[in-house]
Amino acid sequence: MLISQFQTVGRDLCARGLVSSHSGNLSVRLGERLCITHRGCMLGCLAEQDLVETGIDKNDRCTPLAATELAVHRAIYKDTPASAIVHAHPAYAVALSFSEREIVPCDTEGKLLLSKVPVLGWDMDITSRELAQEIAKALATHKIVLVRGHGSFAAGQLLEEAYHYTTTLEESSRLLYLLKTLQTNRR
Ligand SMILES: [Zn+2]
Repeated sequence: MLISQFQTVGRDLCARGLVSSHSGNLSVRLGERLCITHRGCMLGCLAEQDLVETGIDKNDRCTPLAATELAVHRAIYKDTPASAIVHAHPAYAVALSFSEREIVPCDTEGKLLLSKVPVLGWDMDITSRELAQEIAKALATHKIVLVRGHGSFAAGQLLEEAYHYTTTLEESSRLLYLLKTLQTNRR
């Protein structure tokens, strides 16, 4: 069941503090269409009515109900073979995004799974069409990207896979942050 996949990932993102009560969004590809979380819904307690189905290319009466980042999800499905997307606001990763052009994990899992995570959206309106296209382009060669001062977009074949990239990025970012703090204190 589609809803149970959304519920599992939504609940877990919320429990881990990777989204606030009403932020973040999830989607899956359904051929020429996509199923995405409702605008302003709570990922921690998703119900059937919190999912919206609309076109990847075409608008319909459900389009205005979709999550505010619909344009980014659409651009990713158009430009990559992804079948599922997780957008979250992981605090340590977002903190690093203010100063880093890319996040390079130093822990084993992060290195193996993610290699490098680009930070996009420098000098760009975060709602712009250009940024949506830049995110999609980067996700053709990366598993997850960060938008500076905003959050992460991860793409995979399953929601659980994109969720895995999200938690791995946050864990690597937390370690990078701790290492930076230790180095600063030693000086
Ligand atoms: Zn967001």
